Amino acid sequence: MGNQDRKVSASRLIQELNKLLIGKIREFPDAGSDLGALETTADRVVEDGRIVGYRINGSKQWISNGGIADAYSVLANTPAGPSWFIVERGAPGFTQGKPENKHGIRLSNTAALSLADVYVDADRLVGKVEGQGLLQAQAVFGYTRLMVAAFGLGAGWAALDRAIPYSAKRIQAGAPLSEKQGYTHKLIVPHVTRLEAGRAYIEETAERIDAGEGSLNTEGAIAKYMATEAGNAAAEASIQALGGYGYTHDYLVEKISRDVRITIIYEGTSEIMEMTISRDRWQAHLKTRGVYYHDRAREFEALQARHPDVGAGCAALAMHALAEIMERARAGRLTRFQHILLRLGEWIAYAECAGSLARRAALMGEGKLSEKANRRFDAPALSAMSRIFARDAALRVAQEGLRWIGGARTDGAGREGADLQTAVNFGAICRAQAGLLEDMDFVADVLYGRAKAAAHTG
Ligand SMILES: Cc1cc2nc3c(=O)[nH]c(=O)nc-3n(C[C@H](O)[C@H](O)[C@H](O)COP(=O)(O)OP(=O)(O)OC[C@H]3O[C@@H](n4cnc5c(N)ncnc54)[C@H](O)[C@@H]3O)c2cc1C
Repeated sequence: MGNQDRKVSASRLIQELNKLLIGKIREFPDAGSDLGALETTADRVVEDGRIVGYRINGSKQWISNGGIADAYSVLANTPAGPSWFIVERGAPGFTQGKPENKHGIRLSNTAALSLADVYVDADRLVGKVEGQGLLQAQAVFGYTRLMVAAFGLGAGWAALDRAIPYSAKRIQAGAPLSEKQGYTHKLIVPHVTRLEAGRAYIEETAERIDAGEGSLNTEGAIAKYMATEAGNAAAEASIQALGGYGYTHDYLVEKISRDVRITIIYEGTSEIMEMTISRDRWQAHLKTRGVYYHDRAREFEALQARHPDVGAGCAALAMHALAEIMERARAGRLTRFQHILLRLGEWIAYAECAGSLARRAALMGEGKLSEKANRRFDAPALSAMSRIFARDAALRVAQEGLRWIGGARTDGAGREGADLQTAVNFGAICRAQAGLLEDMDFVADVLYGRAKAAAHTG
């Protein structure tokens, strides 16, 4: 075969591959993150004027256990709106696709489903009333998102629990990696504090759900967002922490990193979580005429007065700054920019998790933490982590808020930028960073068993 022929056949091969790929992409059902765009239908089957059943048509992509389950809950559009149906394996017209070849969680079966005129009796309509599907889904998101949040937390810690002992033994430049601040303060300590902030929010939300406060969807979204993003970052950092070994199958951190990746995609992606969080708290900001986070900040100012060492003052600074940023966004109608709406979701999650971790450190100090709560760290360690996280949250809200409120303008932020710096108390937030390095040293000492018995109050 001449060179010219080879070129022609290579370009044909690429064309054929492209066709295959484009074909595959076009097969994907349309709904995805947008539950409202549901295309699966459930038509009533009526006999003697009575609904006796439904005929379901459509397809579903990415269904966990899709290829192996015996019973499925399927969302489909009835004449009265989206509704859940129980469909059993083996029903005529109901077929399951091949297992997907995935990046991670490779032992978990994920498959597409196809429903062609699948008949179900009327009693398979969940709740017996049509059109309740989205409300029913909303009613469980608080729980299911909390569950995925816990996956992220557990996976992040599973990776760090490999990186921490590894770095205590691995000698480089004459000393263990665990004694090198540039290593621990980048690859270990920030991830531990972020995971613990996620844990604080998860456990607090779980307790509130157990206490009957409802399904707490927004709190579930905040917990999922923080813990799964933290889990992913921790697993990724753990690969780096193990160097070349981290990049191999044998040391497992690369597997954990592939497995935890799904937690920021399923049960609502991180971007959808940002939107959910932001929309809800935006309503709270509007309804309270801008004082929602100023009010919440006061709770942490009071906590700071009782427990000056748990980072509550800094959490309060984050919340006051958030209230000011949200108010500027309202006045400038800036949530019409989707990027600003979603960034608000991130800042809200940081500010609220900072509050939660401060409360947890205080409760631990008072010996009042719920008996079900995790007790891996004592009060001084939790307090130091809380101070680290709260500093991050306050600076993130103020700095990123200034950046994007200014960035939404096209005419130069000018005087408003300077006013906003004052309004968010940027000076105080910068001053509150003092002691950060010392707190990180202390947390590293705790993690590597070097902390002195004497309590560190920071
Ligand atoms: C392994 C696995 C298991 C799963 N198991 C199940 C299951 O059991 N049951 C089930 O129902 N689903 C399941 N899913 C589906 C999962 O919930 C969806 O994949 C997820 O919600 C994202 O939808 P999508 O894949 O269509 O992506 P898309 O919605 O197309 O999103 C693609 C990207 O665009 C972003 N995006 C989407 N909408 C917006 C927007 N409005 N604004 C800004 N950005 C946006 C997303 O954040 C994402 O980054 C599973 C998925 C996987 C991969």
